[in-house]
Amino acid sequence: MTSVGSVMKQIAALEISAKSNPVPLSSTSIAKPTHSKQPSQTSVAKLLTKFAAPKAFPKSKPTQPSNLRQATGEPSSGLGANRPAIDIGQYDGGLETDNEKRGEVVHGEAAEDLALDSSISREPTREWHLSDFDMGRPLGKGKFGRVYMVRTKSAPKYILALKTLYKSEIVQSRVEKQIRREIEIQQNLRHPNVLRLYGYFHDSKRIFLMLEFAGKGELYKQLSKHGHFSEKRSSRYIDQMADALMYLHGKHVIHRDIKPENLLLGINGELKIGDFGWSVHAPGNRRMTLCGTLDYLPPEMVEGKEHNEKVDYWALGVLTYEFLIGNPPFEDSSSVNNTYRRIAKVDLRFPSTISPEAKDLISKLLQYDPEQRLALSTVLCHPWIVKYRSKNSVGGDT
Ligand code: ATP
Ligand code: MG
Repeated sequence: MTSVGSVMKQIAALEISAKSNPVPLSSTSIAKPTHSKQPSQTSVAKLLTKFAAPKAFPKSKPTQPSNLRQATGEPSSGLGANRPAIDIGQYDGGLETDNEKRGEVVHGEAAEDLALDSSISREPTREWHLSDFDMGRPLGKGKFGRVYMVRTKSAPKYILALKTLYKSEIVQSRVEKQIRREIEIQQNLRHPNVLRLYGYFHDSKRIFLMLEFAGKGELYKQLSKHGHFSEKRSSRYIDQMADALMYLHGKHVIHRDIKPENLLLGINGELKIGDFGWSVHAPGNRRMTLCGTLDYLPPEMVEGKEHNEKVDYWALGVLTYEFLIGNPPFEDSSSVNNTYRRIAKVDLRFPSTISPEAKDLISKLLQYDPEQRLALSTVLCHPWIVKYRSKNSVGGDT
């Protein structure tokens, strides 16, 4: 949690940089004078990290100052007044276009299920509306709507990713309960490698999720670009993954859908688990219908047996392999059945390029018997992880 002292230092540093490098603070980034000097990459990175909504917003009327600002003794003129603007990019009007052609108002029980608002949830935040945000560039398209980079209009001007979900499309896909669960689970999680959900609100057609902005985007794109990652980079990602999974399991949350497509990267290259679509609160062993990506399914799920949090250990092994080699270990392009068969047999083959330590870790995670899989605490002390761990670098891409 951000201490008062560190917030004071941040403000002092920002005021200095704002004075020495004045950038006009328009509410949108569009009308930017071309001659104005923009904050450097490093200072933008710092700003994004430090001001990407460090904690849940307290429940208060929108006009009241937040606890964060009270804690800093900041004058009512607002922190944003002295801070260089971060370029949030140009809004493409996509929400309005979408709203005309997509989505109907939902009624009845489904409407109640989807009347999601964090201001009335167990851990309430303040009330939010779409008009509280300056819209920035599109970040991507999800299954149920678009995702935008946004900034809160009121100071301190937090940078966030705003994800829209069309209620009627959720109902069509019959995932009302799943979406509710995903949101409830994610809102209660606080870990540096788990994408934060700061709050959510809805209107008649849509749900809006206020997500931590992952400045370096999708990990999957990086993997596609590079083909595979170095041992160092892979090890650093797996270190962060293991830590995040330990945290989740401690909260009795099983992710069940670990794969590169569900991982994002923070502005410093740190890994962020997003997408809790298949996650469950785990009261005990569960028998489940098959879900998740085929390549990441463990033998117990392939064989339709009960499973527990150890499914995520298996997925961590698959992920380590995919990072290093560029494709998952049991992939078989000829048929889905062959992939199933290879998983059930744990038909694991290593190319010669892979180091003995990495091989050791992967083999210990990819054990047929869930109970034999290496514990996450042991993963964190595995030689291949410890070897590349650096105190100063959280990101994997250095
Ligand atoms: P899909 O099934 O395609 O994964 P989805 O409904 O799960 O869709 P997301 O993956 O969450 O949607 O979002 C779609 C895209 O928007 C992502 O692939 C990513 O590029 C971008 N995006 C989502 N959330 C964020 C974020 N917090 N920060 C930065 N970019 C994001
Ligand atoms: Mg996704």
